[in-house]
Amino acid sequence: MRRNLLKAVVSLILVIILCTTCVVPFTAAQGDVAVQPIDFNNPDFIRGMDISSVIALEQSGVVFRDENGNQDDIFKILADNGVNTIRVRVWYDPYSSDGRGYGGGNNEINTAVQIGKRAAKYGMKLLVDFHYSDFWADPGKQKAPKLWNGMSVGDKCDALYEYTLGCLRTLRNEGANIGMVQIGNETTLGIAGENSWQNMATLYNAGSRAVRDFSSDVKVVIHYTNPENSYIKTLADFLHNYNVDYDVFATSYYPCWHGSLSNLTEVLNYAAKKYGKYAMVAETSYPYTLSDSDGHPNTISEWNNNAGENMLWDFTPQGQADEVRAVMNAVNDVEDGKGLGMFYWEGAWITVGDVTGLSGDAYTKQLAHNKLLWERDGSGWAASACAEYDPDDAGKWYGGSAVDNQAFFLPDGTALPSLHVFKDVLGDGSYRLGDADGSGEIDITDATCIQRSCAMMQTRIDERILNHGDIDGDGLSVMDATMIQRHLLGATLPYPVGVWRQEEK
Ligand code: CA
Repeated sequence: MRRNLLKAVVSLILVIILCTTCVVPFTAAQGDVAVQPIDFNNPDFIRGMDISSVIALEQSGVVFRDENGNQDDIFKILADNGVNTIRVRVWYDPYSSDGRGYGGGNNEINTAVQIGKRAAKYGMKLLVDFHYSDFWADPGKQKAPKLWNGMSVGDKCDALYEYTLGCLRTLRNEGANIGMVQIGNETTLGIAGENSWQNMATLYNAGSRAVRDFSSDVKVVIHYTNPENSYIKTLADFLHNYNVDYDVFATSYYPCWHGSLSNLTEVLNYAAKKYGKYAMVAETSYPYTLSDSDGHPNTISEWNNNAGENMLWDFTPQGQADEVRAVMNAVNDVEDGKGLGMFYWEGAWITVGDVTGLSGDAYTKQLAHNKLLWERDGSGWAASACAEYDPDDAGKWYGGSAVDNQAFFLPDGTALPSLHVFKDVLGDGSYRLGDADGSGEIDITDATCIQRSCAMMQTRIDERILNHGDIDGDGLSVMDATMIQRHLLGATLPYPVGVWRQEEK
């Protein structure tokens, strides 16, 4: 009796513990997010994200969690939520003469290798974004790497070619699955210190040649900004007139500054229809809140929000998801299926130490700690060491993340409900490539199901679902089972095993 009573009490306690953990899940207190599906013209439409700062953030102790608060590899969290491609910036030599990192993730090729490898593990391809600079390249600055100082354009072309090809080979040898390469970043007014059209075209073509020599399957991207300005069409004409060899015409699209969505589609259509190019958005982002959480001012904030007053979407997770959905839709509207996809910029650049709600000494202390980490690990947008290379901008205003309120993660690393927009846009009937048993995960059962099916054995699985195991797209065969096994063993495959897809029409 007493033993039974004890057992009953223990069981009751267990039930209470279980109920508490089940019934009281982690609440992000952000509510759920609803997403209207998009009828994609391309089943592999790119739903990409740039998370270039992530290695530095992890060095500063940042961890990421899924929506339920469970800590996990951010690359897995992104893949589970429908992201299918990762973008990474590459700087030539972001280090000062005394070996200190410039910050912004200290993204030289070795950082890109780490990111590319982890992306490939979850079936995600890589867009390699070469800045051809030692630090940030954008419409305001296109400074050549220190080592290229004083080079003629011809010598720069040779250096750019060798560097590009070398980096791509390193990335592939280390296991990254390269899908696209950007020849320069936001090169609206120049590239690698050159700003005449002739010199720019020569440099683009040197990079393009390196990509072509590397692989015929990799797309060459040229990236501009400011689609609201008709000059961007002139740039499309320039690329044609100067015989630049490229595949994808890309632009940044930040809705607070870059005009309407219908204009965006029209600009992309111009390059697609007139010159037969693919078109995409290489960068976009949107705040889920106007609050800062790291003590470094944000580009869009309560005190700097003039441009955002007339936004179509709220500054909430729902508004953030709506923006992503709207930009994808605008790209998908490009005619003849030429709209290739979109990348969200730095969707995980969260705080290295939360200052939310702190004031006085507590705030000062946390901010001092954050500054220490930004300097030590390069986890802020710029560190003081960059003053040597960029004295007038980053060297003056260095600090933390200016986009922590545009991430898909709360300050503690927990995924926001807006993150699943990347999967929800696919609608019902979406599936993971390789998921032959329809479980939602890729595991050895998928390989077994395919083998049984190919051996004409009973699988009790609907043929439509079984066909999701057709990795290489040439009909279900034992090869597909082998590829799933290899994927599970960590091999990098040319197919995006495990990424979410829309059922083909
Ligand atoms: Ca901030």
